Amino acid sequence: MQNKFKYVIVGAGPTGLGAACRLKELGIDDFIILEKENLAGGLSASFTDGMGFTWDCGGHVQFSHYTYFDALMIKALGKEGWLNRQRESWVWIKDRFVPYPFQSNIRYLPKEDVWKCLQGIIRQYKQPSFTKPANFREWIYSSFGSGIAELFMIPYNFKVWAYPPEMLSYNWIGERVETTDLERVSKNILFELEDISWGPNSKFQFPKYGGTGSIWLNVASRIGDDKFHFCKTVNSVNNLQKTIHCTDGSTYKYHNLISTMPLDILVNGLQEIGNGMKEAVGSLMHSGTHVIGIGLKGAPKEDLKTKCWMYFPENNCPFYRVTVFSNYSPNNVPDINTHWSLMAEVSESTCKPVNRNNIVEETIKGLLNTGLINHADEVVSKWHRYLEYGYPTPSVGRDTVLNKVIPELDKQQIYSRGRFGGWKYEVSNQDHSLMQGVEIVNKLELNINEITFPFPATANAMWGK
Ligand SMILES: Cc1cc2nc3c(=O)[nH]c(=O)nc-3n(C[C@H](O)[C@H](O)[C@H](O)COP(=O)(O)OP(=O)(O)OC[C@H]3O[C@@H](n4cnc5c(N)ncnc54)[C@H](O)[C@@H]3O)c2cc1C
Repeated sequence: MQNKFKYVIVGAGPTGLGAACRLKELGIDDFIILEKENLAGGLSASFTDGMGFTWDCGGHVQFSHYTYFDALMIKALGKEGWLNRQRESWVWIKDRFVPYPFQSNIRYLPKEDVWKCLQGIIRQYKQPSFTKPANFREWIYSSFGSGIAELFMIPYNFKVWAYPPEMLSYNWIGERVETTDLERVSKNILFELEDISWGPNSKFQFPKYGGTGSIWLNVASRIGDDKFHFCKTVNSVNNLQKTIHCTDGSTYKYHNLISTMPLDILVNGLQEIGNGMKEAVGSLMHSGTHVIGIGLKGAPKEDLKTKCWMYFPENNCPFYRVTVFSNYSPNNVPDINTHWSLMAEVSESTCKPVNRNNIVEETIKGLLNTGLINHADEVVSKWHRYLEYGYPTPSVGRDTVLNKVIPELDKQQIYSRGRFGGWKYEVSNQDHSLMQGVEIVNKLELNINEITFPFPATANAMWGK
């Protein structure tokens, strides 16, 4: 049996690292971090393959909402450690690129489709719906009209979320999706305007070296090696005796447990928990994400040279998004003069199964179908990582579950926060996650109320740029 720690943090992703950083700043040394992998970073870690290509777990970009986060990023990599990038994102549809956001740039489509989209918006204006949408599907139709819904929003969202949109709520949307404005859309069509600067992430930063993961390795090194217990998978928690059990037989006692492991796994591993809690977390939904890195020889085609990422709503490829990862940093490839790289993301769920044995080959076929590459023999490296917990689904019943389970855990001094600890997609980027860790420590040590986890809309409005 080990010592009792004031804090045990489970998970060395951005949330756990945020909590640890804050404890350090407050002069509290009585804590440890248990992490099942052998490195820090969680879903924000990066990997270099045998050919020297660096990969993130899906395209990660920095577009922070918080001054604390921004300051930590500078401390981690220094001012010189970053590259500033202009977002260029596009939708590949009908054999052409349409700038993002799609809804503002429908003029790029064939004429019949422009009309279908416009007609849908006009009908919405003529006959607006005054009833509150019951789910994401209804929200899509009432916000964009049937044309944009059927051409882009419904098929694309199924590909991303891996669940039909009627199973999702829409209260996570906030600033993430621009809705349609008939006046603006009409002007763009008539005067052939490009409308691409919308959104909180029109500019972003990326580390010069080592991918996104280099940030978190640096943050971890500031916390101190002695605090990390790697290759420790938490198996169960005896919440009556405040003892954590790991799969290797080791045990740890805690006063406060800050957990960033998936909430459903945490609750199922609790010794004693109130009525209905395990059933409740059983209804939380998530999807898995396949990340497929394709290292290429040569150089990107002319029309990919400045693009960051592209969305794919059609069924001619398995992926919903591809990032031109060599455009983020030249150091993501072995030699930028002779190589470039693409990173694809494919979602998986019970509603959208994926054949894991051939997904890499299917991805390469998709890159050929969509014209991103010309020949399969350009491929010099293939990298595949499956993230079992990729996206926390904002399902229709999610908040009822969270409102029941999280306060009960809080009472027992088990604070479940972060992307899958808190399960709130709308506050599950790196900056939100880090701040959930910082804010829970501020609450416990300084009695300062949390904002990000309990009030996502407020957090996004307060720190939105
Ligand atoms: C495809 C994709 C694209 C993304 N793009 C962006 C982006 O562009 N910008 C952005 O800001 N964010 C992005 N994110 C989100 C970002 O990855 C998360 O915000 C961040 O990693 C969440 O941090 P976390 O600490 O809450 O969770 P995680 O990163 O999941 O960390 C949790 C940690 O807990 C560990 N753990 C789990 N179970 C156990 C256990 N039983 N015992 C011990 N340890 C355990 C895990 O190994 C992991 O290290 C993206 C995520 C994905 C999947």
